[in-house]
Amino acid sequence: MAVTVLSGPAGVGKGTLVNELRRRHPEVWLSTSVTTRAPRPREVDGKHYHFITEKHFDELLEVDGLLEWALVHGAARYGTPRAPVDEAVANGHQVLLEIELQGARQIRRSMPDACFVFVAPPSWDELVHRLVGRGTESEAERERRLATARVEMAAEGEFDHVVVNDRIPRAVDELVGLMGLRSEDA
Ligand code: 5GP
Repeated sequence: MAVTVLSGPAGVGKGTLVNELRRRHPEVWLSTSVTTRAPRPREVDGKHYHFITEKHFDELLEVDGLLEWALVHGAARYGTPRAPVDEAVANGHQVLLEIELQGARQIRRSMPDACFVFVAPPSWDELVHRLVGRGTESEAERERRLATARVEMAAEGEFDHVVVNDRIPRAVDELVGLMGLRSEDA
């Protein structure tokens, strides 16, 4: 299938898997999302995200310019621009979307033939460690993250495939196989 949707709980390491996949397979076309959140240090506009205003985001919604979108952590909106994805598919590219669960569900409705991959942690304890490991957040923030993670983990059964992110090279091998990409040593 031309479109793969990679999703899973916050903190599970989706971004790291995508970076490694793209290092091995630069031909994979990765969607660049729009977001209303502010750039973090070292994030580049147009590369990591298109950083846009709330007004611009509203305008994109009005013209049906987003394939999916979500409000994340009650704070910022994120969305996948529709036209570039359509164009990449039309040009025969393997398209990869790395998005959170609400967005994945929307794509499930609009593109039921896409390949839906859930990235799972090796264990619940490992996810807790990754989410709150640094211990710098308040107790309330910690509880909020864990409650969200519990809900997100329950979505696993909605996906076509589950990739456990135990070791990055192994998890990427599995993803490469699911996407039908030729592995490096093939
Ligand atoms: P961050 O702000 O840490 O870069 O991303 C926060 C969350 O937003 C991550 O779980 C990421 O997968 C998700 N995300 C990034 N882009 C999109 C998008 O276009 N749509 C949706 N639904 N989620 C996104």
